[in-house]
Amino acid sequence: MSDSVAKKADFIREIIKGDLASGKHDTVLTRFPPEPNGYLHLGHAKSMCLNFGLAQEYAHVGAQCRLRFDDTNPAKEGQEFVNSILEDVRWLGYSLEDEPLFASDYFEYFYDCAIELIEKGLAYVDEEDIETMRAKRGSVTQDSEPSIYRNRSIQENLTAFAKMRAGEFNQGEAVLRAKISLTSSNMNMRDPVLYRVLHEKHHHTTEDWCIYPTYDYAHCLEDAKEGITHSLCTLEFENHRPIYDWVVKNCTTPSTPRQIEFSRLNLTYTVLSKRKLGALVDSGVVSGWDDPRMPTLAGVRRRGYPAQAIKNFCQSVGVTKFNGVTDVTLLENEVRSQLNTQCLRKMAVLNPLKVVLTNLESEELVSVDNHPENPDLGSREIALTPEIYIERDDFMIDAPKKYFRLKPDGAVRLRGGYIIFCKDYKLDAQGEVDTVYAEIIPGTIGNSPPEGIKCKAAIHWVSVAYAVDSTVNIYDRLFNVENPDAAEAELIDLINPDSLQVLTGAKLEPSLADITLGDKFQFERLGYFGLDSQSSPSHLVLNRIASLRDSWAKRK
Ligand code: ATP
Ligand code: MG
Repeated sequence: MSDSVAKKADFIREIIKGDLASGKHDTVLTRFPPEPNGYLHLGHAKSMCLNFGLAQEYAHVGAQCRLRFDDTNPAKEGQEFVNSILEDVRWLGYSLEDEPLFASDYFEYFYDCAIELIEKGLAYVDEEDIETMRAKRGSVTQDSEPSIYRNRSIQENLTAFAKMRAGEFNQGEAVLRAKISLTSSNMNMRDPVLYRVLHEKHHHTTEDWCIYPTYDYAHCLEDAKEGITHSLCTLEFENHRPIYDWVVKNCTTPSTPRQIEFSRLNLTYTVLSKRKLGALVDSGVVSGWDDPRMPTLAGVRRRGYPAQAIKNFCQSVGVTKFNGVTDVTLLENEVRSQLNTQCLRKMAVLNPLKVVLTNLESEELVSVDNHPENPDLGSREIALTPEIYIERDDFMIDAPKKYFRLKPDGAVRLRGGYIIFCKDYKLDAQGEVDTVYAEIIPGTIGNSPPEGIKCKAAIHWVSVAYAVDSTVNIYDRLFNVENPDAAEAELIDLINPDSLQVLTGAKLEPSLADITLGDKFQFERLGYFGLDSQSSPSHLVLNRIASLRDSWAKRK
């Protein structure tokens, strides 16, 4: 299935429909422009689903969406991020054939456009220091004071700009500014900075440049150079649109793209900001950008979320102009519903307790179905042996009335097998249950219990003789609060202390011995699980992808 989920009509799709109908455009060109200064997160997935999704929907008129690295600020960018972004975009199934584009490939073009602005008297090199510039900036209610360099001659500006490029200024000694307004109520239009000096090595252009364009100056030129028809960005850029249009209008560009803003994805219990996620990584509270609790695409991939679940989720959130917060349960339920149909059922015991079946003389094969709702997926034979593991919490000594699992003088069914009856148990030195002794009730496989025996539940089990050892990571939401809206330093305080529980003694049914990366299963009664990327054949490590149902609804 590609993106066969029904597309909701939204205001962007309406605009595009109109532009094609009126003949303003005969195709649709969009782009996904991440800055390689961090790993992509679920918010970026929303942007990708929109941009790449539009290209797929309008493929019949030659529509295209390109991945373009917006790599105009070498201070925070790097090759690690470029690589991770490529992997994430491809994982979602996008941009598989096209070579990625790099904004830094257009540096010469940006430079030429800057010369053009200077020659038109629309840009000047400002050599005032940062404090003076700041002091003169004014505010929405106060006009800006002109820089003493604002009216230098075109020739002087050309010379100074050439000096900037040649590396004759230190960082902070000169900037190129557009000459637009000192009074605009939109502060972005108050002679915005177009270029600054940055003596930094760039991951793509290395040491070719020591001046770098600002986002507001470069992004629109990138779009125009590529013939982007609809440049889709998030709402916070709405009041940058005038500068976007100003630059395109005043520079010689091969096309006139249109910027359209939509609301960004916000999720409960989740932080979606590369800067804040980077702070979590740096602080060590998570193991890295791909920690399975992280809302990064690398994180959710490692956790085991199917790419299609993320796409379906983005579709269902839709595209609007209103900033809202989406309930993370919506995403979790999408993951569950994908996995529910996809995953074979298996048995695994996370907190094992040994049960001796005293009257089972030798092992016996029992048949367990692989998917309760889909008989086409068949069944498998599992050896029931005289010693098995069950979950610790499936046995209780002083059980309340409504406890239908195993208890002294009580019965329970082993999934796919016999009803067993508890005869005795043994405690260890600490007073914990060490071993349970039970008898199988012959003739109960597939049949009701005999007269006088109550059995209302089935529990999962794993044979001691054939169990496969593994470590299982149980994940929960990374944050404890619905709206973890805090500065980087305080974010740590909002972390859910139970967001990771490592179970080192888990026992898996023998068919899981050769599980490989990417395999996903439902462990009966426990949730969905898959192999962690850090797992090795000699030490299996599994991740819980999702619980079977939403346990937070209850907690709230
Ligand atoms: P962050 O705030 O996490 O750093 P960003 O917007 O700075 O994100 P970019 O690399 O510039 O990150 O983003 C690439 C594209 O993804 C942009 O078009 C941006 O608008 C979009 N995008 C980023 N975050 C979200 C989000 N939460 N929801 C929707 N789109 C997003
Ligand atoms: Mg950013």
